[in-house]
Amino acid sequence: MSKIKNIFAREILASGGAPSLEVVVTLESGASGEASVSYGVSAGSKEAFVLLDGDKKRFDGKGMLLAKANVNEKLAPLLQGKEATHQREIDNLMLTADGTENKRTLGANAILGVSMAVARAASNETGMPLYKYLRQAFNISLTAYSLPKPMVVMIEGGQHADNSTDLQEYLVSGLRDDWTAADNVRMEMEIYQKLKGILKHEHFSTNVGNEGAFAPEGIGSNEKPLKLLVQAIELAGYKSGIDAGISLDAAASEFYEKGVYTLATENTKLTSEEMIAKAEGWFGKYPIVTAEDFLSEFDWEHWPKLLAAAGRVKIVADDLTVTNTKLWQKAIDVKAANAILIKLNQAGSVTETVDCCKLAIEHDLTTIPSHRGGGETNDTFLVDLAVAVGSKWIKVGPTRGERVCKYNRLMRIEEELAG
Ligand code: PEP
Ligand code: MG
Repeated sequence: MSKIKNIFAREILASGGAPSLEVVVTLESGASGEASVSYGVSAGSKEAFVLLDGDKKRFDGKGMLLAKANVNEKLAPLLQGKEATHQREIDNLMLTADGTENKRTLGANAILGVSMAVARAASNETGMPLYKYLRQAFNISLTAYSLPKPMVVMIEGGQHADNSTDLQEYLVSGLRDDWTAADNVRMEMEIYQKLKGILKHEHFSTNVGNEGAFAPEGIGSNEKPLKLLVQAIELAGYKSGIDAGISLDAAASEFYEKGVYTLATENTKLTSEEMIAKAEGWFGKYPIVTAEDFLSEFDWEHWPKLLAAAGRVKIVADDLTVTNTKLWQKAIDVKAANAILIKLNQAGSVTETVDCCKLAIEHDLTTIPSHRGGGETNDTFLVDLAVAVGSKWIKVGPTRGERVCKYNRLMRIEEELAG
């Protein structure tokens, strides 16, 4: 047990070259914890509020000096002397001080940075690795540890790359429970390298998008990547549908307006029913295991129809539910989705994020903690969270330091658990 002595925030850079926040929490015992906050490009409209400076003379308005000042001048005095292991109480104090539904006053970036750094400091204080600390601190009703498998972006388009597909992400997801996390990670990277060769052979560019996945300019088809992924899986010596499956993140809110989905690269406009029919067609033809945001966050009424048509494929909500317990409860009630993408910064505090995961555990539904597209940092909190809540997959990668550090953390946890 130790009390918070000091909290300090600084502006750092995130992967896209714009600022983010790093927070350091020091306890009276001398233990400390550090955390940094990520943010997305194709953010859902109901995500917790990211407080930006808006001063066009610095980073085109994207500075985080206001959020930094909120940590150093408001949250630090509020939390000094508080017991660091009382995470829920600390998060609630910050939410009350903010006083708004989406953290508009202090900024979710400020609140989350403190929340994560407090959890790390407390885990260091107790001598437990973060995943064990989180499981205990939040009374998560799981006994054994099972490690999440990688869900790796291989081809990206949408808001994450120029002139590629309309759909945002085509991913390869590990399926083998009987393989180590390290073996699942190795498989992904071998598939990624084979995919590069296939793209070159077909005279596509192997330039990459925001997350380090290939962004083949002029591909002109939203279905073609599915064929390429099956080829790459098999060329790498793996069995598609058995060792590795395909996941999709359409991020469909980005190309939806007033009941119409516009697939610009194919010069096509589809209704919600036609999108569902497209999904069903693909589900029957390719080894697809999950489909995320295949419909827009503004098209709630059609999600249950998609889920009803999905069969074995998990329907994942991201922009629809934005790691928000109320929206996730609604999605469960109306049977809109049976899996949820988990992003700490969508919720804006560790407690709210874990509560959202616990709701999934209660209903035996799937959680998939995820990186962010535009502003990712080297923080690996999401990996420990995934292990703590028993997530089936983590969506990260493929390449670049801020992505591979998550897989390196996963492999270290595996080594630690193996003793
Ligand atoms: C996503 O939509 O799942 C994603 C990773 O992208 P972003 O962080 O840009 O929202
Ligand atoms: Mg998404």
